[in-house]
Amino acid sequence: MFQKDLMKGRKILVTGGGTGLGRAMSERFLELGAHVVIAGRRKGVLEQAADEMMAAHGGQVDAVQLDIRSSEMVDEVVGEIWAAGPLTGLVNNAAGNFISRTEDISAKGFEAITRIVINGTFYCTTAVGKRWIAAGQGGDVLSITTTWVRNGSPFVVPSAMSKSAVHAMTMSLASEWGRYGIRLNTIAPGEIPTEGMNKRLMPGEKPGERTARINPMGRCGTLEELGNLATFLMSGGCDWLTGETIALDGAQARATGGSFYELRAWGDAEWTAARSAIEGQNAKNRAERSG
Ligand code: NAP
Repeated sequence: MFQKDLMKGRKILVTGGGTGLGRAMSERFLELGAHVVIAGRRKGVLEQAADEMMAAHGGQVDAVQLDIRSSEMVDEVVGEIWAAGPLTGLVNNAAGNFISRTEDISAKGFEAITRIVINGTFYCTTAVGKRWIAAGQGGDVLSITTTWVRNGSPFVVPSAMSKSAVHAMTMSLASEWGRYGIRLNTIAPGEIPTEGMNKRLMPGEKPGERTARINPMGRCGTLEELGNLATFLMSGGCDWLTGETIALDGAQARATGGSFYELRAWGDAEWTAARSAIEGQNAKNRAERSG
């Protein structure tokens, strides 16, 4: 779909670039010549992903440990990245999410999502944006949101609220920072099966089964489709496009409103089983962070 070396000369930071969608976008940028920096909390996961990507495609992938909930750490890490050469792009991909009845969510559970998605995305965007402004250089910001920014979503309310904030940031800063040549867009994907997504949003289900049943195109999205759309938005060929959200979901949100309304049929037993599966996945990831 794209010319070889299309992304040559670009240096892109992808938060959550060691897993799932972040890794797929990173790999596509790398394949097309970009220097990629992947960031997340689990160093081992990042280093393995960087090694595998470089073994497959050559080029340069730097793995940096970063918790985007800390503004100090974000500024320090972005400063270190910059010292080795300025970024030309940022992909705000890192997020947390889990399904729950909203009446069961504690303040701590709510903040587990909002601090990553709202605070972390703001810290990363401003840490990079202020350096572009100071240098008189433009840049590309792509944030990964959800189709729920348009119509809300039951059973994932902290995420729907947080992604709406990222959507609002994108529209607002596209206006405010356009004069600096800084562009901001978002992709709102439908289901593209990843471990992180399946274990916390569809625990116990076969990946893609529910989507295949209700999606107008009868299937989930693919990592390749996402990588290609992200490349289009980050490659500089269409710079007047800014402040936009592109849904990549086979028209599912238009046709059905989203993914989780069906869960209203669940009772206490299903929610208890889901919660324990999500807690199991959280414990696994915590062990990887401290290991
Ligand atoms: P994932 O593999 O669980 O990705 C989440 C990533 O975020 C992980 O690499 C994680 O790494 C990182 N992360 C979480 N908290 C962080 C923090 N405090 N600091 C730094 N990094 C952090 O799930 P995914 O499915 O690929 O999701 C990626 C993005 O796509 C998310 O924004 C999600 O909302 C969005 N999305 C996904 C789908 C889908 O179907 N997959 C659909 C719509 C939207 P660490 O744990 O190592 O920090």
